[in-house]
Amino acid sequence: MKSIITAVSGLAAAALLWVFFKPPFGKNIVRINTDQRIVALTFDDGPSPPYTERLLDVLAKHDVKATFFLIGNRIEKHPETARRVIAEGHQVGNHSYSHPLLGFLPPTSVKREIKRTDELLRQVGVKGAIVFRAPVLTRFLPVAWVLAKGDRAHISCDVWSWDWTTQNPDRITKTVLRKVKPGSIVVLHDGKAENAHADRSGTIEATDRIITALKRDGYQFVRMSDVSY
Ligand SMILES: [Zn+2]
Repeated sequence: MKSIITAVSGLAAAALLWVFFKPPFGKNIVRINTDQRIVALTFDDGPSPPYTERLLDVLAKHDVKATFFLIGNRIEKHPETARRVIAEGHQVGNHSYSHPLLGFLPPTSVKREIKRTDELLRQVGVKGAIVFRAPVLTRFLPVAWVLAKGDRAHISCDVWSWDWTTQNPDRITKTVLRKVKPGSIVVLHDGKAENAHADRSGTIEATDRIITALKRDGYQFVRMSDVSY
């Protein structure tokens, strides 16, 4: 009997953990549902001058539009950079206010983090629906709950560039090109949440190479607002 109780409580604990880390409701967008050669480049943790500006120059050179997930307290520091991202036709989304491990916070804090950044995004000129991505992709139960109540999707990714662990452009480029496929959502970083002054030159160089290689392979680049999900 005792072993049955242990087994049942073990299973219940596992089920609870599963529901917490993989909430079975709400929309979690990992990739674009297509077999066409399209890919969405996404950049997290900005605005982060001068790197965001340098990245914008690279994107403009290739005439590629991307999606930027901005951190609220960085928008407060660099509103002019956020405005330039928007002015150049990129989509801008919400990446929380202070980049905490959002999924471990209570829903009231999650809501506050998202709302504050939505307001900042409106102030710098974002119109229409605002896409959201949780810091470190922590779409855990409290985040999924708040998003579902607001009928809002979470934009995840299927290609991790690992550019938060390296700024070697060769490694970033190879990692992305090895994994990318039709409909991929690629996550790169024009800023670094834990260090506002971190050098992002590797990501910028890699982005230049990635776009060149993917264009050669016939890929087109989209913002998340260009596709349905
Ligand atoms: Zn982030």
